[in-house]
Amino acid sequence: NIALKHGKQQQRGSINHFTRAMEQATHARVRLLQELREAFEQQQLFLVYQPQVRLQDGLLVGVEALLRWRKSDGQWVAPDQFIPLAEETGLIHPLTQWLIDEACQQITTWRAAGLAVPHVALNLSGRSFHQKGFAQSIHSALTQHGLSTQDLLLEITESVVMDGRTVTQENIEQLSQQGFRLSLDDFGTGYSSLSYLHRLPIAELKLDKSFVQDLEHSETARALTISVLSIAKSLHMTVVAEGVEPPHQCRWLKDHGCEVMQGYLLGRPMPAEMLASWMPRPETPCCA
Ligand code: C2E
Ligand code: MG
Ligand code: MG
Repeated sequence: NIALKHGKQQQRGSINHFTRAMEQATHARVRLLQELREAFEQQQLFLVYQPQVRLQDGLLVGVEALLRWRKSDGQWVAPDQFIPLAEETGLIHPLTQWLIDEACQQITTWRAAGLAVPHVALNLSGRSFHQKGFAQSIHSALTQHGLSTQDLLLEITESVVMDGRTVTQENIEQLSQQGFRLSLDDFGTGYSSLSYLHRLPIAELKLDKSFVQDLEHSETARALTISVLSIAKSLHMTVVAEGVEPPHQCRWLKDHGCEVMQGYLLGRPMPAEMLASWMPRPETPCCA
């Protein structure tokens, strides 16, 4: 009897403990969201750009824009942490509009300074595609900056492609009709339904960095990478390998026909002003 009573007390204790942990987590989220809102309003979010390099000649084919948030106390918050928060609360909509505008502005600034940046790749949230008129809004932003659809490359994930909502499919369709190129980010980690690949206007596949990083040790990663390269080739799509770090990954990918790479080996995500000193690259690793 005493044991039973003790057990119940213990159970109750752990439930209390659990509830408290939940409350704390909710509290922390609410606070982070508040900070994110303020950071956005006070323009404390910014973009860094990571080079995408064609190995054949070491040429820059484009840069990917990546969001950064550094809190006023100096702490960095990773996009994997704050973007889901922005998505849940709808903040992602003004954030994405800002992102597009900022990227367009940056292209113009680089080109005015004589820096040939062929495109900026933008990560688009699946949530944006739920908005009617989203495709049109990207096009308008672009036109306002006097740019063309080839100046951006729109990265979406497999979940967007698989989203059955009419509005999502309309936005995809419209983007393609307007002449935008779409890129499938984190390819291989999602639903892995290949049938949509030939249905949809996809110009590029981004081989997820988890594959790239397993190349050395995993037979499966190598086999899947070879398949992706071969699918892309027959469908006339470009493959960009993400997260290329040690030179042997670069070498292996190059030997297996991957043309474009992105990763710390070639260049880290950097502030816009630093791109000028990163370019040109006389000795791109792996280019020889
Ligand atoms: P992603 O689009 O797949 O971006 C690639 C991530 O890999 C970036 O992380 C980049 O910094 C990192 N990376 C690049 N090269 C290397 C490498 O050689 N090694 C390793 N270990 N990592 C590398 P980041 O910047 O933390 O972004 C994480 C994710 O957050 C992105 O994945 C993207 O899904 C999302 N994200 C970032 N910026 C935006 C944005 O502007 N809008 C939206 N909707 N999502 C964004
Ligand atoms: Mg991306
Ligand atoms: Mg990715």
